Amino acid sequence: MSQSESVHKRHASELEDGLCDVPTSKKLCTSSGEEPPVESEPVAIIVGEEKEKFSVHAHLLEGSSEYFLKVLSVSQDGDQMCTVKLEDADASAFSIYAKWPYTGRFHLATSPDTQTPNGSPNDMCWDEMSACYALSDFSDATIDAFTRRMEIRNNSPVELAKWIYPKTTKDSAHRRLCRDIIVHTWARKKWDRLWTEDYPPELVANVLADVSVKFARGSKRRELTEFLEAKNACEYYEHKRLELPCYKARFGI
Ligand SMILES: [Zn+2]
Repeated sequence: MSQSESVHKRHASELEDGLCDVPTSKKLCTSSGEEPPVESEPVAIIVGEEKEKFSVHAHLLEGSSEYFLKVLSVSQDGDQMCTVKLEDADASAFSIYAKWPYTGRFHLATSPDTQTPNGSPNDMCWDEMSACYALSDFSDATIDAFTRRMEIRNNSPVELAKWIYPKTTKDSAHRRLCRDIIVHTWARKKWDRLWTEDYPPELVANVLADVSVKFARGSKRRELTEFLEAKNACEYYEHKRLELPCYKARFGI
C-alpha cells in the first residue's frame, strides 16, 4: 500500500468511527466539579405503534434534547419509573438515539461497509440516518453523521434535501448544506434530477439563486470530500444559528 493510500485509509477509518461503536475521541480531564450528574433515574420511553420500550437515564435525555428537558422537568410523584410515550416516533431510529448520549456515536444496525449482492454500496445506512434526522432533537448530530459519511464516500445521497427541507425552516443551516452540496459538488448529469424529480420547490429556488452567484464568481465544481474537508465542523449545525451550545462540547467529543 502506498503512503498516500494508507493515509487515506486511516483518515477514512477515523471518520467512519463517528458511525460505529468504538469511542476513541473521549478525552481524559481533571474534575472541575461542574460535570453533568452521573446519578439520575432511568426513564422508560415507549416508542411507536409497537410500543417498544427503552430505558435511558434522565440527565442524558435532558442534556441531549430540549423536548425531554421540558417533559422531564414536570415533577413525577411516587417511586414509579417515569414514563414518556412517543407514539409517532420510529423505534429503530429511537434505538440509535437512545445510545447516542452514552457514547456520542451512531450505532447503526447496518454496517456502513456492507455491499448489496450486485456490488453497489448499501444505502440502508442512509435510510436509518434519515429516520434519525426525523427525530428533531437529534438533528445536528445526524447532520454530523451525514457529512462524515459523505466525506468518506465522496458522494451524497440525492434524497438529502428531500429529508431535510420538510423538517427545517427557511434560514436553517441544514438547508444550506443541501444547497451547497448541489451547487458546488454535483456533476452536470445529476442536475436533471432537480427538474424531473419531486424536490421541494424552495430547494430549487435556493439552488438557482446560489448558482447565479457561483457563475458570477466563476467558481469551479469541487469534489465533495475536498469541499466538506475545507468547512468548519460547526458551519452546518443549527446550534450556531440558534446560539445554543455545540452538542460535541456537551458530550466531550
Ligand atoms: Zn458545533
